[in-house]
Amino acid sequence: MQPFSYTAHPARIVFGAGALAELGAEVERLGARRALVLSTPEQAGAAERVAAMLGERAAGVFPRAVMHVPVETARAARDEAARLGADCAVAIGGGSTTGLGKAIALESALPIVAVPTTYAGSEVTPIWGLTEGGVKKTGRDPRVLPRTVIYDPELTLTLPPGLTVTSGLNAIAHAAEGLYAHDGNPITALMAEEGVRALAAALPRLAEAPQDLDARGEALYGAWLCGSVLGAVAMGLHHKLCHTLGGSFELPHAEVHTVVLPHAMAYNAQQAPQAMARLARALGAAQADDAPRALFDLAARLGVPTSLAAIGMPAAGLDRAAELATTTPYPNPRPLERAALRALLQRAYEGRPPAEA
Ligand code: NAD
Repeated sequence: MQPFSYTAHPARIVFGAGALAELGAEVERLGARRALVLSTPEQAGAAERVAAMLGERAAGVFPRAVMHVPVETARAARDEAARLGADCAVAIGGGSTTGLGKAIALESALPIVAVPTTYAGSEVTPIWGLTEGGVKKTGRDPRVLPRTVIYDPELTLTLPPGLTVTSGLNAIAHAAEGLYAHDGNPITALMAEEGVRALAAALPRLAEAPQDLDARGEALYGAWLCGSVLGAVAMGLHHKLCHTLGGSFELPHAEVHTVVLPHAMAYNAQQAPQAMARLARALGAAQADDAPRALFDLAARLGVPTSLAAIGMPAAGLDRAAELATTTPYPNPRPLERAALRALLQRAYEGRPPAEA
């Protein structure tokens, strides 16, 4: 047994089909009386329904969350919370909406209740992000951690089939990197393996039957575990590549994760045999060596993009992406070598199966 230190993040988790009905009681439990409800414009209907459920405990609705939390949006939401005298915020939606809640909490003491509707996992991490002048800054701060998370699989029934799979693979990416994190521990490894297992079992069922509530529950359970791993340990090459590609080339978040993950795993496989063994077991692969290929095959089988070309990456940007990925590298089991990363990106661009670059 290796020595380790582990800070588990405090959060109250309320999980189950229909759990949204507990929202009023959960807001009251925080001692709050006036909740500002946050959502994207696309999910404004859901936010209005939540506000109606809260009745006099709702202070208002702010349906203006967008990807990557622009500072202007965060400021507008904070101003709106102050104007309405809100004493808590309810964020209903994916990582973009949770991110807006975190941006409010970063500069005020407002407690956040997160009601996730994707598998991004942000609701259980102390990681915030803000974009100013086209540059995204991220950091870790315990103040942004939502106090309560309500996981209601019924709210994920409307998640479109493509986003269901790519968002699920985004969650798997957190766990996969968590398995070889330098600051990992036996508990995060358990959560990671179980999270990957649950998602890998649920996603094929959801590709067949998106309305399968039992599979929705299993996927959301997996997302919670994978998000908890992301919140507790350091991420490596895969997240660095995804932040580089997403930030510099504006590629869609969950799809970038989907395409890059098998390649990042193959790059690290030799230096992380125990992580690969766990990952292979969770994915039902025959041998540890097969884990990256099993991820690639899973994405291909479920009909989501498997090449950077298919999601809008310009071929002319690959050199710059390889260069950017080696600047301020994240901790990673294998050193980040520019030429090897360029080869990795080429494979990912063309949608070829993963290989040790
Ligand atoms: P998202 O929140 O941007 O949502 C994508 C779209 O899907 C939005 O239009 C949203 O309204 C819609 N949507 C969400 N749930 C739906 C549902 N159930 N039914 C119908 N439509 C639904 O997507 P995401 O992938 O959840 O989040 C991505 C963002 O989260 C990125 O900015 C990423 O950086 C951030 N993120 C942060 C962390 C963290 O720990 N801080 C972790 C993961 C992701």
